[in-house]
Amino acid sequence: MKNNPLSKSEYKRVALDVPNGEKKLVLHSCCAPCSGEVIEAIHVSGVKQTVFFYNPNIHPKEEYLMRKDENKRYCDKLGIEFIDADYDTKNWFSRVKGFENEPERGHRCTLCFDMRFERTALFAKENDYKVFTSSLGISRWKNMEQINKSGLQAANRYSNLSYWTFNWRKKGGAQRMIEISKSEKFYQQEYCGCVFSLRDTNRWRKENNRERITRLVKFY
Ligand code: SF4
Repeated sequence: MKNNPLSKSEYKRVALDVPNGEKKLVLHSCCAPCSGEVIEAIHVSGVKQTVFFYNPNIHPKEEYLMRKDENKRYCDKLGIEFIDADYDTKNWFSRVKGFENEPERGHRCTLCFDMRFERTALFAKENDYKVFTSSLGISRWKNMEQINKSGLQAANRYSNLSYWTFNWRKKGGAQRMIEISKSEKFYQQEYCGCVFSLRDTNRWRKENNRERITRLVKFY
């Protein structure tokens, strides 16, 4: 296959079966490290994908631009369509208002997933896709059940649209995620994304005598 990224590795992946035998899908991507393995797996399975980057949760803007540019760089390399959606932070802050002090994996995160998936579902529907999925669940810091619930709910807003709950962590996916991140030298973020996760991670680090996060300098 053209632009096969597997040439650097012995890694062998079993071809994916997209629900209902679909040959194209929308992938909601949160960042390059999480989506690298997912993009590759879909790519080598011969499934057409559109990567949809909609993450108005990421703060501050320089961090958002870094994560987005890294993701686009990988898509460009593989010749995959990359949609740069809105950075409508105002809507994101108003959506999570009142839940600023929720812990990670709490209700604020549900609202954050809902917002990102609702926009992705709308894009999928408007562009004649029948399936969408997300790279969000590959991170071990995330609750798969919580993510899947939001994805399924967003898909249910439209007829003939499904959210694919595939577990990207399994069958070597989590390990492959690290391999690709290292070979591509992706930017390595140290907090989930929002200003509250930045605050809480730094708070935890202080309590555990660890240095504060220094953004935009760490690469795999
Ligand atoms: S911690 Fe992550 S998932 Fe939760 S609200 Fe913040 S950016 Fe969204």
